[in-house]
Amino acid sequence: MKLAVFSTKKWVKDAFTSNTPDSIEQTFFEARLDEETAPLAADFDAICVFVNDVVNAAVIDTLAKGKVKIIALRCAGFNNVDIHKAEEKGIKVCRVPAYSPYAVAEYALGLILSLNRKYHRAHARVREGNFSLDGLLGFDLHEKTVGVIGTGKIGQVFMDVISGFGVRVLAYDKFPSDAVREKGVEYVELEQLYRESDIISLHCPLTHETYHLINDYAIRSMKSGVMLINTSRGPLINSNAVINGLKSGKVGYVGLDVYEEEGDLFFEDLSDEVIQDDTFVRLQTFPNVLITSHQAFFTREAVDNIKETTFSNLTDINRTGESPNLVSLPK
Ligand code: NAD
Repeated sequence: MKLAVFSTKKWVKDAFTSNTPDSIEQTFFEARLDEETAPLAADFDAICVFVNDVVNAAVIDTLAKGKVKIIALRCAGFNNVDIHKAEEKGIKVCRVPAYSPYAVAEYALGLILSLNRKYHRAHARVREGNFSLDGLLGFDLHEKTVGVIGTGKIGQVFMDVISGFGVRVLAYDKFPSDAVREKGVEYVELEQLYRESDIISLHCPLTHETYHLINDYAIRSMKSGVMLINTSRGPLINSNAVINGLKSGKVGYVGLDVYEEEGDLFFEDLSDEVIQDDTFVRLQTFPNVLITSHQAFFTREAVDNIKETTFSNLTDINRTGESPNLVSLPK
């Protein structure tokens, strides 16, 4: 099987060139897949893409004109793929549904601790010879209320780890889970979660329903000084609403590992360039905002699992046409 790997970074190549099945012949493209680069895939049987590759109807049309029969996502979320179009064109889509919920949940906890206790600012100060504590005041997590939206694999690990701090956890999920209830977690409506949480962490997928879930209206119903953490998908948060909340003081802290327009920024070294996204640049100016470049998943264990699952998805589909990790439209 000839496989075109898009959005190749060093870590991708390092991972995917070790223990590659003999049946897979890979070509690595640094380019992100989009309408302009899709013709590169013309002679390949399968493509492998990541979170910011664009796999919309136009791209799928181009892929279908070539030989591509499989789109292998090396991530869990598939919001960037037009599944209807892929089905219409007979192209199978597979993903890596779980590679390490621990990686993302632990990272979300790290964002909370850094924002609260300001490790990143203290580190920069001490390196400059500034040993002042002014502005570094934090709060005890103990006995605070943490709202978790989305109680799937990552949300559940997050609730387990944050519970170690002696917090009260409130959960919201469109499909509440009995297993989560049995752990003693309280499911509440979103309004109550917004009203009572000191920290809100997002762990639900990006869908039509969750697009801009955190908007002006939602922020108005939150506690003053709330901390918002997003390690899920950028468009769950309306960035302009958050900026307004930060300016008024209603939002006290924001930790983002994802950003709604991250496709043009994240994973690239743009340190010599003028960033054109004014909303992103405004977000960066707040002392109480911490943004990272979609790295919550990035642990050795997760990368190994991503590689192994992607290869087994591809070989299964190639051999039998089936895989437990196929993405399909709801019947
Ligand atoms: P999951 O499918 O196990 O859990 C998602 C949960 O969200 C489910 O319980 C589901 O019922 C719930 N949900 C669905 N629609 C909802 C809605 N409208 N409102 C509230 N809850 C809703 O997924 P997961 O493995 O826990 O991953 C969660 C998300 O994390 C993924 O969708 C992905 O976007 C993101 N993610 C980010 C990174 C990163 O590196 N930053 C890595 C992996 C995953």
